[in-house]
Amino acid sequence: RKTDIIALSPYWWEIPASFRADMHVPAQIIAEESLLDEILDDRSLQQLVNVTTLPGILKAAFVMPDVHEGYGFPIGGVAATAYPNGAISPGGIGYDINCGVRLLRTPSPVADIRPFVPQLVSELNRQIPSGMGTPGRFTLSEEEMDEVLLTGAEWAVKQGYGTQEDLEFTESHGRLPGATPAKVSVRARQRGRDQLGTLGSGNHFVEVGYVEEIFEAELAAGYGLFEGQVTVLIHTGSRGLGHQVATDAIRNMVEAMPRYGISLPDRELACVPFDSPEGQEYFQAMCAAANFAWCNRQVIAWEVREAWKAVFGEGAALPELLYDVAHNIAKVETHEIEGETRKVIVHRKGATRAFGPGHGEIPEAHRACGQAVLIPGSMGTSSYVLAGTAQSSGIAFGSCCHGAGRRLSRTAAKKQVNAPVLKRELEAAGIYLEASYRRIAEEAPIAYKDVDLVVQSVTAAGIVKPVARLRPLAAIKG
Ligand code: 5GP
Ligand code: MN
Ligand code: MN
Repeated sequence: RKTDIIALSPYWWEIPASFRADMHVPAQIIAEESLLDEILDDRSLQQLVNVTTLPGILKAAFVMPDVHEGYGFPIGGVAATAYPNGAISPGGIGYDINCGVRLLRTPSPVADIRPFVPQLVSELNRQIPSGMGTPGRFTLSEEEMDEVLLTGAEWAVKQGYGTQEDLEFTESHGRLPGATPAKVSVRARQRGRDQLGTLGSGNHFVEVGYVEEIFEAELAAGYGLFEGQVTVLIHTGSRGLGHQVATDAIRNMVEAMPRYGISLPDRELACVPFDSPEGQEYFQAMCAAANFAWCNRQVIAWEVREAWKAVFGEGAALPELLYDVAHNIAKVETHEIEGETRKVIVHRKGATRAFGPGHGEIPEAHRACGQAVLIPGSMGTSSYVLAGTAQSSGIAFGSCCHGAGRRLSRTAAKKQVNAPVLKRELEAAGIYLEASYRRIAEEAPIAYKDVDLVVQSVTAAGIVKPVARLRPLAAIKG
């Protein structure tokens, strides 16, 4: 209830650790007040309070303004536990391991591209397999799968599906060093074998858009963005492979938990100590699945470039990578907590990293700006490019929201939306959709929160600075 919540600022709220006897730390919410009121309507804050009971959790459990209910943990949540023996929990990372967003920027102004949008959409559709289980262009041998799991996006670049520069502008260079391919089960490998370079289904998408407004000229210049510039946004993850890694680990952990004396208010929070055999098995498999996802988005970026060549000619200037950021992942990082520098295991589920200027993990060309943070909105509204700030590490372990966040279930959206009408309305507004009517209804803009308010919340909280707002021209949904 709202009476249990203390306002720390107009954009920052706390449920104190005294609220429930089993809480180890407070729960904190970053959101402006009308969004908080909406958040109180579902179970996401109850889930957040449950997260504060995780063994070894530090400082506070956080949710961002795009929060909504998820498996055990809310989506839009951040939790850090003490390294090395704090909990690791697959529910705090999500089933789509390293689901994430990649933004490409072109040298072209929107006026040059607009007449070609229908042609581009049909080429993108031809190049990028989408839908559940649709096979991609590779069937990986066991050896190739091992290499993809070990080296991530590097594998794609080595095969000619990208450039060294693509790796430079991918979080962790598209390769987590903690990966152990042998920890990925036979079933998971099977599910991923033919899925590289595929979009999948649901809210995964490739969207052509353009920069509608620049907020901070210096930051925009640092990221190579200008007003009117055409962009391509890619959203997908580790496909069935990551889902199976999560499924395997949850089953394993539920069984192992009693051995570590862990009992939790919700079995969906299943976790084990990070440094336990089960914890390490999951972490090493999760890193491998994350690498698979980065390789997947790398191949899709190549497919986008192929579509570009087909429409604009072999010699055409191709879209270049601005940045690729994960929003379902756990990482070992160093943060300052109550004046002490500590190694922590940061879980981000529906939350992205947002490191401030100068951080060594930011590409050199962006280092003075802070890390690029990519916030998709919906197929009919805006998306945003933001930049991490110096304060972000001291707030939610250098994290930010990952989107607008769902506010209606798929079923509720289908009841409320007339898809053919919506499709025509968006087309009249210059937004071209390639998706089934069912998907258009489920993914309608009203199914998502107001992205402008979400972005205003994280900006006002001081985690990020606004850089640019993007407007869609065409979306291809899985
Ligand atoms: P999730 O990772 O939770 O599945 O989704 C991330 C975010 O993507 C959602 O919260 C939503 O705001 C955004 N989103 C979903 N569909 C689209 C789309 O078609 N285009 C854009 N730009 N954003 C979308
Ligand atoms: Mn996903
Ligand atoms: Mn996602």
